[in-house]
Amino acid sequence: MAIDPQFETNRETVDEHNGHAVWGPVEEPEKLGIHGTHVAVDFDICLADGACLEDCPVDVFEWVDTPGHPESELKADPANEAQCIDCMLCVDVCPVDAIDVDPGRAGRT
Ligand code: SF4
Repeated sequence: MAIDPQFETNRETVDEHNGHAVWGPVEEPEKLGIHGTHVAVDFDICLADGACLEDCPVDVFEWVDTPGHPESELKADPANEAQCIDCMLCVDVCPVDAIDVDPGRAGRT
């Protein structure tokens, strides 16, 4: 299952984390929702592969600990989404399609 690119329509923001939105539902620690808006990462799909952290030319992602999550206990958090230059590398390298980038979405500052 890939991230839902229509999450802005299909979900609601339930929280804020590191300056970006969190789109629910969230039921910690098993369900963590989607983090970010311009650069969105579905934490419930992310496997902590790390390719996005390695390949992003402007260091948008940072690891966050997510102990108790069934997929992985680390997630690639779009902590610096405002720096994104829309190269789409992260979208291309993610092995589980957990990332969606859309420069037209709110959240870009
Ligand atoms: S689209 Fe490019 S610049 Fe933006 S987060 Fe992904 S890898 Fe980084």
